[in-house]
Amino acid sequence: MSRRRRSDPEAERRVHRGAAPAWRGNRVFYVAVEGESTEPDYLAFLNHEFGSQHQFLIHPLWKRNGMTPRRVVERALEQRDEVTVGEDRVQLWAMFDRDQHRDIPQAMRYARDNGVRVAFSHPSFDLWLLLHFTGVSGRQGGSSRTVHQKLREFAGFETFDSHNDKSMTGRRALALQGRHLAAAKRAKRLVDDCPTGDCTSSGGHANHCDPLRRDPSTDVWMLLVELGIVQP
Ligand SMILES: [Zn+2]
Repeated sequence: MSRRRRSDPEAERRVHRGAAPAWRGNRVFYVAVEGESTEPDYLAFLNHEFGSQHQFLIHPLWKRNGMTPRRVVERALEQRDEVTVGEDRVQLWAMFDRDQHRDIPQAMRYARDNGVRVAFSHPSFDLWLLLHFTGVSGRQGGSSRTVHQKLREFAGFETFDSHNDKSMTGRRALALQGRHLAAAKRAKRLVDDCPTGDCTSSGGHANHCDPLRRDPSTDVWMLLVELGIVQP
């Protein structure tokens, strides 16, 4: 979960905040997210960086102080009237973290039963950011402490998560540029290495793969596949 810092000295350097781009994407993605800062900022970054080229527009759905996984799925479903059955032009997504939540398997089942795709990260979305720079191995136990320590070694992220600043704009967004393919490759490798043993990057996590045991892992790359930014 992330909190937006009230007075942000980097506010003027926020290159990916502000008005939505002038173009309208052909495809619309409603992406409900757990956090109120990192994920919405990142989704705005995707709009600006790739939306025009790949003809999509993401609407991040978030709430101040964040949402539980179940609530994230419910928030995505508030847009379900816009989805046409059998078409992928409008997609509903829920993005949430392992953290220390108790309702992960239930929230994932609820999403699947209602046509909401899930981008689940274990321990957190911030793992996806770290994969832009380096690989990760070994269990994280639901804590993002190690992920944050490593992330702060990279330019732009030196102060990430200090003073509640988990924004993903300005220098941080710029630091991600050109690294998405490497991040997806590393994330796919984590699926291949899933402790269940039956999960592959080509087939995804097996049906019987317990999400709580996918440690570490992140499915955010699957959203980028649907957006057309990376290959399956
Ligand atoms: Zn798995």
